[in-house]
Amino acid sequence: MSAPAFEPTPNQSQSNPNLGPALSSLLSRNEAFSSNIAKDKPDLLAAISKGQAPKVFWIGCADSRMPEGTICQTDPGEIFTVRNIANQWNENDDSANAALTFAIEALGVEEVVVVGHTSCGGVSAAIDAALAGASAGTPTTALQRYLVPLAQLAGELIKNGTVAADAPKAEFARKLTTANVLKQVENLRNSEVIQRNWKTGESTLVKGRMCNKVRLHG
Ligand SMILES: [Zn+2]
Repeated sequence: MSAPAFEPTPNQSQSNPNLGPALSSLLSRNEAFSSNIAKDKPDLLAAISKGQAPKVFWIGCADSRMPEGTICQTDPGEIFTVRNIANQWNENDDSANAALTFAIEALGVEEVVVVGHTSCGGVSAAIDAALAGASAGTPTTALQRYLVPLAQLAGELIKNGTVAADAPKAEFARKLTTANVLKQVENLRNSEVIQRNWKTGESTLVKGRMCNKVRLHG
């Protein structure tokens, strides 16, 4: 994984007339960020140019309102991140699993955190699917398939009496959001990479480096 490049590329935001206003705005602000970090935090820039050593692995929702660096006011290099629909993690998701494995065994992160949020569209869609039940039919799109475990969890909450099927949706969503975070922590706890870390962490060399024993949070 190469070091980030923060050198400004002058006037890039104005050089391509085909960019729409959204991307032009992003490029402008990226140019400003590059200039500011070089001026305001030269030591940080020098450090992260050599490599990264984040302490935190963050599993969050892809929701645009949940950018971990913004809401936690972090600098570059502090959080290694996977974000997807409704902050899910499971053993068979190669993308998320590879990121976790790399973060623990190559970067030595110490804290793994699952972060849910209110007004989650994934949670809302999973509730709808659970309430529709069999009448929703077989999931055919990637989004529908991705939400199956969350919809199943929503169904379990109804079955075990945690929430009534006719409960207000906001209440259902609040309970499913919490249950979802706990479920992902459970998935992590049972994962090969976490189990391997807990067996060998702290004082054991894993793939040539000292491996920290990680803690799970949700
Ligand atoms: Zn969400």
